[in-house]
Amino acid sequence: MIPRFQPAIGADELRALASPPPGAVERFEQAFAAHFACAHGVAFSYGRAALWALLQALEIEDADVIVPAYTCSVVAHAVTLSRNRCRFVDATLADYNMDLDQVEQAMSPSTRMVVATHLFGFPLDVDRLRAIVSAAEARFGHKIWIVQDCAHAFGARWKGRLVAAEGDVALFGLNISKSMTSIFGGMLTTNDSELASKIRAWRDAHVTPASATKALARRAYLVAAATAFQNSVYGAVRWLQDDTPVLSRLTKAYHRDEVIQFPPDYQDAMLDVEAAVGLVQLARLDGFERRRREHARHYIDGLRAPSDWTMPPFVDGATYSHFVVRVGDRGREVARFRRAGVQVGEVIEYSVPHMPGYAAPSEPNRFPNSRMLSEHVINLPVHPTLSDSERQRVIDAVSAVAA
Ligand SMILES: *Cc1c(COP(=O)(O)O)cnc(C)c1O
Repeated sequence: MIPRFQPAIGADELRALASPPPGAVERFEQAFAAHFACAHGVAFSYGRAALWALLQALEIEDADVIVPAYTCSVVAHAVTLSRNRCRFVDATLADYNMDLDQVEQAMSPSTRMVVATHLFGFPLDVDRLRAIVSAAEARFGHKIWIVQDCAHAFGARWKGRLVAAEGDVALFGLNISKSMTSIFGGMLTTNDSELASKIRAWRDAHVTPASATKALARRAYLVAAATAFQNSVYGAVRWLQDDTPVLSRLTKAYHRDEVIQFPPDYQDAMLDVEAAVGLVQLARLDGFERRRREHARHYIDGLRAPSDWTMPPFVDGATYSHFVVRVGDRGREVARFRRAGVQVGEVIEYSVPHMPGYAAPSEPNRFPNSRMLSEHVINLPVHPTLSDSERQRVIDAVSAVAA
């Protein structure tokens, strides 16, 4: 079975687990920020905790935060748990990012922040976003913060410029499903020194060191994940996960999409062992992203897509954290691929404003694109460890379906 994704955990990462040097977190922060042309990095336990902390460090409360309707639910949870309101904006069908016309319309005197997710690694138009935000700032007379959510788009570029360096601050998630990992973890990067000091001061006052037990558990988790996603054992793992409760903790326990809450350890500091793994992965990130783009290029050029498929565009500056295709009947496609030995994902199978904690029952027909995408997307494997021959097997499986 070709897995839908696979973390690229090698000998260096496992070695980094053995004896992480003290101060690894600071080193990781600096190296990470520098990689994305930012002067400052501040590390957290999760990406969601980083956004939640940012809102509080900026003393933003009871305000409107513009977020995509179609994105990872933790973004909305961070806004809600910091006692702010999500102002959702629907996706475009061109590249699944927020519709910037609707961002412009969503601006109000209560808007204090825009979270611009570069979904699936597609860079959104950071220049137009900046212009929209500047106009709103002039109209309402206060600062509106732009957060580039780069959790899918680490090295993504708009017109050659890293999107991570284009807003006020960039947000990254670093769990094993991301383009690189520090086991878990999140990061904020910025070129604004005053903002960096504010975030750091807030973090140091509110975040506590993680326990030694947790440091051990994190090591065990990475070893388990690295093993479980090896192709040779993956079939058995799927069985254990789908048909028995044994492994559900491995991938599900820390994230229940529909509940507006954070994992219990979200106010912990990033561990040195997480940062040590992150440093190894950071050095490999450019290679990972090159390989993902290469896979995407081959799919776009080589796939004979069935007539009810809509392929994603090839975008030069995109990072293809996921290779997302819209299909007519998702259940049928997932089953067909499974029979061909390929696991495809159903990434973001919800529309956030339609989720229980957010649903506005009076307006069930708003955000039609977000709802449609949540029901019709599948993602093909593009992880960097996917071999050329595995990629060809995916292409052949599609051709068999199209025939
Ligand atoms: C993963 C992710 C985050 C942060 O996730 P954590 O799991 O909290 O680290 C933020 N935004 C998007 C779009 C994501 O996919």
